[in-house]
Amino acid sequence: MFNFYAKCPLCGGIHEYFFDTKNLIRYCLGDMINKDDISSYTKEFEVECKTCNNSLIFSIVVEEGTFINILLNATEKEIEATKKIALKSLRLYKERYNSQTRAVRLLGEDIKIIPNQFCAKHKFRIGEFIMFFNKFWRIDESYKVVGIGDHLYERVYKVVSLHDEDERLLVTSIDRFPALREVDWNADYWLTDDEKLRKYKLRPGFSLVIETE
Ligand SMILES: [Zn+2]
Repeated sequence: MFNFYAKCPLCGGIHEYFFDTKNLIRYCLGDMINKDDISSYTKEFEVECKTCNNSLIFSIVVEEGTFINILLNATEKEIEATKKIALKSLRLYKERYNSQTRAVRLLGEDIKIIPNQFCAKHKFRIGEFIMFFNKFWRIDESYKVVGIGDHLYERVYKVVSLHDEDERLLVTSIDRFPALREVDWNADYWLTDDEKLRKYKLRPGFSLVIETE
C-alpha cells in the first residue's frame, strides 16, 4: 500500500490518499517493494480530489525494485527526469537517520509527501498552508537562493506549525528531496551528521533574496 498527502492543483485542497490497499504493507520512498523482483516500472492510479472531484493521476515510480518516487499528473518526461535524481537522494538519507526519527524531530526529508509538489520551481505563497510530517504548516517568510546570473538554486521558507507553533525552515530544491531544518541562519559548516540534519547552510557564493508574496 502507498499512502501520501497531495495538494490538488485545481482547488488547493490537501488530502491523504491511499493506493493499492489490498496489499497491507505500507511502503515509503526508498523501500524495496519485493526483494525477489528488481524490475523497473511505473504504476498509475486515478483518484478524485476529496474537495472538488478533480481527477488526479498519481504515478508510482519503481526503479530496480525500489519505490523511488510518486508524481502527480506527471508527463513521461517528468517521470524520466525524476528517476535520475531520486535514487541518489534516497541513498543519501538512508545513511543518516531513519524516517521515524526524522518525523519525531520534524527535521530532514519527509517520505509521505509528493516530492515534485515541493520543488523549487514551484513557489509557495506567504500565508499558504502545506502538509509536512503529518502536520499543517503556514508559510510565513519566503526566500529564494540564487547563484551567478540570478540562477535559482533552491527556496527557503520559514514555516510555523498550526498545531503547536513549532518553527522550521522548509528547503525546496530542483534535484533533491525537500527537507525541514531548524530556524538558524548562521550555520557556515557542518561538523557532525546531526548538524547536517538540523542546520541549513547557504552555499558559498549564493545569495538569499527575500520574496514579499
Ligand atoms: Zn481539488
